[in-house]
Amino acid sequence: MSNLSLLILPGDGIGPEVMAEVRRIIDWYGDKRGLVFDVSEDLVGGAAYDASGTPLTDATMARAQQVDAVLLGAVGGPKYDDLDFSLKPERGLLRLRKEMDLFANLRPAQCFDALADFSSLKREVVAGLDIMIVRELTSGIYFGEPRGITTNADGEREGVNTQRYTESEIARVARSAFELARKRGNKVCSMEKANVMESGILWREVVSEVHAAEYSDVALSHMYADAGGMQLCRWPKQFDVIVTDNLFGDLLSDVAAMLTGSLGMLPSASLGAPMANGRPRAMYEPVHGSAPDIAGQGKANPIACILSFAMALRYSFDQGGEADRLEAAIEKVLADGLRTPDLMGPDGGTPVGTTQMGDAILAALDASL
Ligand code: NAD
Repeated sequence: MSNLSLLILPGDGIGPEVMAEVRRIIDWYGDKRGLVFDVSEDLVGGAAYDASGTPLTDATMARAQQVDAVLLGAVGGPKYDDLDFSLKPERGLLRLRKEMDLFANLRPAQCFDALADFSSLKREVVAGLDIMIVRELTSGIYFGEPRGITTNADGEREGVNTQRYTESEIARVARSAFELARKRGNKVCSMEKANVMESGILWREVVSEVHAAEYSDVALSHMYADAGGMQLCRWPKQFDVIVTDNLFGDLLSDVAAMLTGSLGMLPSASLGAPMANGRPRAMYEPVHGSAPDIAGQGKANPIACILSFAMALRYSFDQGGEADRLEAAIEKVLADGLRTPDLMGPDGGTPVGTTQMGDAILAALDASL
């Protein structure tokens, strides 16, 4: 296996369509930049269920554990709605996240200048925005015990969930955030509710301890998560990396996503512990789903998936300069007015399909040499 191994799981619906454009970009890096990836491809979600009766085979799972990074398209579709819960396409995705122990979910909120008018906020608040939300993904209130709905002594029903974090769970996601900050603007803002939650007090203490011991070169600040939500809408450019727990991260990353406009533009990464070669276990995927309403029509915007590959370049393969090159190529194409249907706004623009958008990004990459 080469030094740069990638497992591609296109999945369902528009997944294979957008991933086809990523394959062309990967080939471009091999031909023009000498970055030759050892790429293998496999099935996930409904496509895997159709082929083998399960949304992720053991063989695919084993392969995912061996490669440097997994790149996933999207899973799901109406055809699979009536399947048993354990066989649904999404179970394939969840199994990957769980067995690779991907505890840090990275959602960038990046606003390309040409799309600043798509935001619900004013252009000057979002133009040029580039922040990263790091959400703890495998613990906290979505997993804590006890949980459930019971009937109490008064005969009244009670719903219970438990927010629980151990020191090591907080420390490892904090390290992910500090490492990322060193590759970006070198600032981390940690968000919790230390004013009303003990788990928040511990969160703040452990993040501060990790910072003092290992990352004192990074600027660290703390904010209550509710104030953080307000600040994200008021002046998001004050942030670089935000690190927060599972519940607050779920909310804050969706708020941040909406600062930037279209679902077809949003990449993500989920990272785990470092492997023997020092690279983190990693899966990269667009935030959007399989978009059955437009699947097979050549209309899907491939940019979210291509930006997910740019994240892989930066965070798995230490190729930040090449990630910058790819993002600049996308910025150029958008500035030239090329628009897939989801990006057609009041400013008009030149309508293009999935492949034409890929062609234009490749041409912009060529022009960058
Ligand atoms: P969706 O993200 O697939 O689509 C929502 C809307 O956004 C649709 O109108 C779609 O056409 C549009 N859209 C999404 N991506 C686009 C792109 N790249 N270019 C242009 N337009 C795009 O969400 P949904 O409709 O709620 O779900 C459809 C299926 O996808 C369901 O089966 C759902 O379970 C699944 N899903 C999967 C993932 C994943 O794989 N990570 C995430 C969300 C939903």
